[in-house]
Amino acid sequence: MHSYAEAAAAVTAARSVAVVGHVRPDADAIGSVCATVGALRQLGKEAVGLIGQTWPYAENLQTIPGAEEVQLVEELPDVDLIITVDCGSLDRTGRLAGDIAARVEDTLVVDHHASNVGFGAVNLLDFQAESTTTILGRLFEELGVELDVPIAHALYAGLLTDTGSFRWGRPEMHTYAARLMETGLDVRAIAVDLLDANSLADLRMIGRALASVEIHEAGGHRLALIVADQELVCSGSLPAVEGLVDFVRTVEGTDLGAVFKESAPDFWHVSLRSVDMDVSRLAVALGGGGHIPAAGYSAHGTADEVTDALLAELRRQ
Ligand code: AMP
Ligand code: MN
Ligand code: MN
Repeated sequence: MHSYAEAAAAVTAARSVAVVGHVRPDADAIGSVCATVGALRQLGKEAVGLIGQTWPYAENLQTIPGAEEVQLVEELPDVDLIITVDCGSLDRTGRLAGDIAARVEDTLVVDHHASNVGFGAVNLLDFQAESTTTILGRLFEELGVELDVPIAHALYAGLLTDTGSFRWGRPEMHTYAARLMETGLDVRAIAVDLLDANSLADLRMIGRALASVEIHEAGGHRLALIVADQELVCSGSLPAVEGLVDFVRTVEGTDLGAVFKESAPDFWHVSLRSVDMDVSRLAVALGGGGHIPAAGYSAHGTADEVTDALLAELRRQ
């Protein structure tokens, strides 16, 4: 693990930089990419923001300043330095994983996922950080970057969403939020854009999903489960589908929640949440990763097969 000074030195030495966020990006990934590109340009560097997937991501993330410039790509451009942000492992860079693996000596990893082994040449990791944007704020200070409104907005986006709207985190998260707000952010509008806006179709999708919640017992655990098949997933927007997991995080009488989202026939993205147990262990065992309270993985099979596999793993642990 490296220091802020070592990470800053790697940035200072570069003239052109590619900033890469994780596939299926969230607000911390896009916020980290946009804030870093903005900071690098302020320092007089050439910078481009990239996501290694070809399909579009949640449209509400386009409200983060600079997101309109983030490119969906399968190849790295010719740059001096690669910075991955909010990527817990190399495979989270998606289609760019091969190109980055071939250039690890030029890669700076900035991340807060406890499962990150440090896959770059320089690794700025802080597992206590609420968001990757929290780490970036300190790195930007080290680099003498001035917090302007677009950069502060992008940093705040990651902090807001990765703390579940400031429901968990260290006391410093509020000090950091205050510093970002003092640049003049409209935090109310940011919260609406990233968390609260729902269409009629979204409300109906959420209603159907909630009507289908089931509780399962396995290995002394009680799981609140939503299985959203492809038809249901397609009836709502991506952010609304991603938000379903917040409803099963804390169902009374359960100690974890899971949402299975079928993005292609028999291919599922699974989100796990808990306030009582370590769901990252469960996700890692099933081929994914994440944090103690929030983790995820991907699975192939019918709805019964993939949910049975999760219950079997719960019994094993
Ligand atoms: P999500 O449920 O998609 O919001 O993801 C929760 C956490 O788990 C995030 O911090 C992700 O980085 C992590 N995660 C989700 N899916 C995967 C995956 N397939 N592989 C590794 N980590 C994942
Ligand atoms: Mn993320
Ligand atoms: Mn994050």
